[in-house]
Amino acid sequence: MADPMAGAVPGAAPGATIEAQLERTERAVAAQGRELAQVRQLLETLVQVLIARGDLAAGHARLLERAAAAAGPRRSARLRPYIDKYEVANSAIDCPSLIHLCRARCCTFAVELTAQDIDEGSVRFELDEPYMLRHERDGYCTHLDRATLGCGAYHHRPATCRDYDCREDPRVWIDFERRIPAPMPPGVGAVSPASD
Ligand code: SF4
Ligand code: SF4
Repeated sequence: MADPMAGAVPGAAPGATIEAQLERTERAVAAQGRELAQVRQLLETLVQVLIARGDLAAGHARLLERAAAAAGPRRSARLRPYIDKYEVANSAIDCPSLIHLCRARCCTFAVELTAQDIDEGSVRFELDEPYMLRHERDGYCTHLDRATLGCGAYHHRPATCRDYDCREDPRVWIDFERRIPAPMPPGVGAVSPASD
């Protein structure tokens, strides 16, 4: 068993050391969860693109869904480690000049909320997948203004929405410098945003 005091700061109280280790572990687990969510989203987008191209049949998507269900349930609750979102620097991306190309697709992505978001009560989360930012049937975040593609919760938007940088994200751009957007995932924006 690893020495629980390994790496301890000389003079630090044992409780503080354990707390710091727990915090590091929590951050690592949360980072893994985010990476897994991104991989899952990439895979789902890829499957939808291949279906749209005719390279896969719709039955393949159902097969993948069954395989995912057989792999076990998703975690019942996810919460990003505490971060003061009002201290988070905004991304340098000039979204208003790009929105006609990207169609705000970052607002279709999975976003973990923090205790700050939940305590404020200013952004909604999925009831069946707490505490993930809520999306509607059209694939977009609940808070997106469908007419302007602006954020309806701008001043209270989660930390992830503030510092997300899409430039290297293949879900958004084939080539950011040349302003070539990736194909929009099929189905996004195709149905009414109203929840079931
Ligand atoms: S996809 Fe990129 S450019 Fe478009 S709204 Fe999101 S961050 Fe801004
Ligand atoms: S909270 Fe705002 S910026 Fe974040 S995903 Fe929703 S609409 Fe987009």
